[in-house]
Amino acid sequence: MPSKEEIKRRILELKKENNAIILAHNYQIPDIQDLADFLGDSLALAIKAKETEADVIVFCGVDFMAETAAILNPGKKVIIPDLSARCPLASMVDPDGLRKLKEKHPDAAVVSYVNTTAETKALSDYCCTSANAVKVVESIPEKKVIFTPDRNLGAYVQRFVKDKEIILWPGFCATHDRLTVEDFMELKRKHPDAEIMAHPECRPEVIDIADHVFSTGGMVKHAVDSDKREFIVGTEKEMAYRLRKECPDKVFYTIDKAICPTMKKITLEKLLRALETLSPVVTVPEDIAEKARIPIERMIAIGRGEKN
Ligand code: SF4
Repeated sequence: MPSKEEIKRRILELKKENNAIILAHNYQIPDIQDLADFLGDSLALAIKAKETEADVIVFCGVDFMAETAAILNPGKKVIIPDLSARCPLASMVDPDGLRKLKEKHPDAAVVSYVNTTAETKALSDYCCTSANAVKVVESIPEKKVIFTPDRNLGAYVQRFVKDKEIILWPGFCATHDRLTVEDFMELKRKHPDAEIMAHPECRPEVIDIADHVFSTGGMVKHAVDSDKREFIVGTEKEMAYRLRKECPDKVFYTIDKAICPTMKKITLEKLLRALETLSPVVTVPEDIAEKARIPIERMIAIGRGEKN
């Protein structure tokens, strides 16, 4: 059995030999975060995937992220170290149900969180991430919006976008939805000076008590810029590893149960195997990719502040 250091060394060698780039989400285990060429939230990763000149993209994250990279890079090989890392939130939209909802509301634009399958994206007008959901919904001309799949993120957007009717798909991320006000207050009682940063996938009552609501990328930026020293991290626990690296002089408290088991399916051993075999390859049928590319490109354009 090779040591962890040997596995890491071999991963770096194979990455170079294959002109590969490792993209990793902020919820990945520390060893993977340390090896990544680029670490970020869904929006930053989608932008990076579109811009890279590498021949192979190794995506350390979940299915929809790798699919998005494949959709944006038709000529490139996109691999994910474990094909079974399928985001349960993304699986909560059934395409037939969405088609029916669209028929019922023909005047509504469909805005789908990037945490959706390629098929759902292909049925959508716009994609968004937690970093730009408010901006995307604000910027579109339609007054009625079907928002999929996360009801908490959709309800969060509705707080800011008062002049549009938002029809919420009843999906949720179990990792965030299980966090309660009491989980946060328990930490706040122990650390009264700590600021609460919550992710918009948290329940509305958690959003109500948060000092700030951010995507994971927003949490990093805020922690770096803030003159506060202590923070309660209202998202997946591993986020604190990135925050501690970026801000070694600050303190981050996490909630023990905030774990996404799907993100944890990616291990060093599986990453090595993926680079050795250049598989499993993530592919999206071209007819679906062609349709899904439009809302993703619109999201990236809005994310960069371009006209969409
Ligand atoms: S944290 Fe939630 S949305 Fe993100 S991959 Fe896990 S289940 Fe899906």
